[in-house]
Amino acid sequence: MKYCPQCQHPLEQRYIGELERTACSSPSCNFVHWDNPTPVVAAIVQQGDNFILGRNALWPAGLFSMITGFLEKNEAPEQAIRRETLEEIGLTVEEVHFLGHHILPQRNQLIIAYLVKTSGEVRLSDEIVEVKYLSRDALSAYDFGRFKLVAQIARQALALSSSASTLS
Ligand SMILES: [Zn+2]
Repeated sequence: MKYCPQCQHPLEQRYIGELERTACSSPSCNFVHWDNPTPVVAAIVQQGDNFILGRNALWPAGLFSMITGFLEKNEAPEQAIRRETLEEIGLTVEEVHFLGHHILPQRNQLIIAYLVKTSGEVRLSDEIVEVKYLSRDALSAYDFGRFKLVAQIARQALALSSSASTLS
């Protein structure tokens, strides 16, 4: 973005509220591009003793990750991850366990991560074209490659999943 969407003057970088922002250079315009992060819900999916990863239609073969999605207007994150899991792989979410918030600076996103326990049969969608079933050990050893954050979230899911099964 080079020009102000409100008055078409050039944008400039300047400090506002202690952070450098992109803002309009016209003194008569108040436009600031706040660039707030976008919240994204993400889940490691568990079914019985297995964990399920999905491959997005846009990704190359062999690349699997979590189920993710954006929030709808007025939707709680827990509702969003239930909806996304059902829409993308056809599974009904029985339990939602919050894992943590993660900042993804390269995409300016806030990742709201969950472990979801599911029932039903996998039904692929336009978005998720392939799934991979992993045992606990296989998920623990899975190479997420450049998806370092996913590897971290998977470790949290495994830790929570095993402590939950000890409790029940
Ligand atoms: Zn302006």
